[in-house]
Amino acid sequence: MKKTLRDVDIRGKRILVRVDFNVPIKNGEIKDDTRIRAAVPTIEYALQQDAKVILASHLGRPLKEQKKAAETGREFNQSAFSLRTVAARLGELIGRNVEFVSDCVGDSAQSACSNLASGTVLLLENLRFHEGEEKNDAAFARELGALCEVFVNDAFGAAHRAHASTEGITHFVPQSVAGLLMAKELEFLGKTLDNPLRPFVAILGGAKVSDKIPVIESLIKRKVDKLLIGGAMAYTFLKANGYTVGKSLVEDELMPKALETEEAASLAGTEIILPSDHQVVDSYDPLNSRKTIPVDFTNTGLVGLDIGTETVERFSAVIKGAKTILWNGPMGMFEEEPFDQGTIGIALAVAEATRNGAISIVGGGDSVAALNKAGVGKEITHVSTGGGATLEFLAGTPLPGVEALEEIQS
Ligand code: AMP
Repeated sequence: MKKTLRDVDIRGKRILVRVDFNVPIKNGEIKDDTRIRAAVPTIEYALQQDAKVILASHLGRPLKEQKKAAETGREFNQSAFSLRTVAARLGELIGRNVEFVSDCVGDSAQSACSNLASGTVLLLENLRFHEGEEKNDAAFARELGALCEVFVNDAFGAAHRAHASTEGITHFVPQSVAGLLMAKELEFLGKTLDNPLRPFVAILGGAKVSDKIPVIESLIKRKVDKLLIGGAMAYTFLKANGYTVGKSLVEDELMPKALETEEAASLAGTEIILPSDHQVVDSYDPLNSRKTIPVDFTNTGLVGLDIGTETVERFSAVIKGAKTILWNGPMGMFEEEPFDQGTIGIALAVAEATRNGAISIVGGGDSVAALNKAGVGKEITHVSTGGGATLEFLAGTPLPGVEALEEIQS
């Protein structure tokens, strides 16, 4: 088990907390502050301990965007990638001033950090203004490390990348521990799913089977009782089983893998359940000419964009019988109404099961957006903040940003 900031003495110390403040900002306005809110418990705990709290995060990909702009002769607006607005929003959330420094290393950052008073908060400018961040450059990581006495990683969503602020820095500070949000992620995605209350039901959706195969394999190893597959990825499984799926999105090259996975599931006692009806259109373009009809793809020109109502009912019945539920990925092209109905139906079923005592864990931006659209975001036991990191963790891949943190000695 990883040490958390509750396990170390941070009183009066300079702690650098790697947070995930990669929030959507449009015309200087923060469109969704969920990630900022998620970091508040760690910040408040550190302030109660009278620590000097230094926050570091990335925001977008400024250097890549700058390069693209130079190539196409577009103007590059550096301030669109500044975390300054985030400092103000965080200040509102925690009800105190959040200082801001316009670089994350160098003289200005060093002097701001060394002059920081106990019980105050300072946000550093976007880490990704420096190439060394994504390259995990040792000199850059050393500079970050020199700013603090304790490193706290609370950015689960960035932990699958070995960057200077997630992995490199740990080589240059005396102590590296998990923040409270990170610890919560590790507890739910790790402990709860390693020892799930049964029946344990997983729901996977989204466009790509390729992304999810390692997760499916890992779930089968954990002997998940039932695995519900929706979204476009279901079509690869259906086609591999001889169904006509029209022009729906299929990864043909993965059909043998899909069959192999079904075989492994059946040996492990995992039941894979696929959709039995679909919402379809007769072409993608123009989208506003679409019609919604349930079919079994007798018309080879049709495109499946969502699970049908019968499937929602079948999946919901399974979900409501579960004691542990894991959900990642939408059941259809949920960004486009009415193809959000399948995903919303699943969100409602997961919420109902949770009200009746099941433990539910939902990850991935799309599924979380669907929960919020269905108005049940707050009813879920644990909503994971990671996208790629959640999938990699569930697949059993070690996350560099987690591996680098200290273990509790038993
Ligand atoms: P992923 O990143 O693999 O989790 O896929 C998420 C995306 O899959 C979302 O943008 C959905 O719109 C898309 N998606 C899910 N089901 C379908 C479908 N049946 N056809 C096309 N796109 C889909």
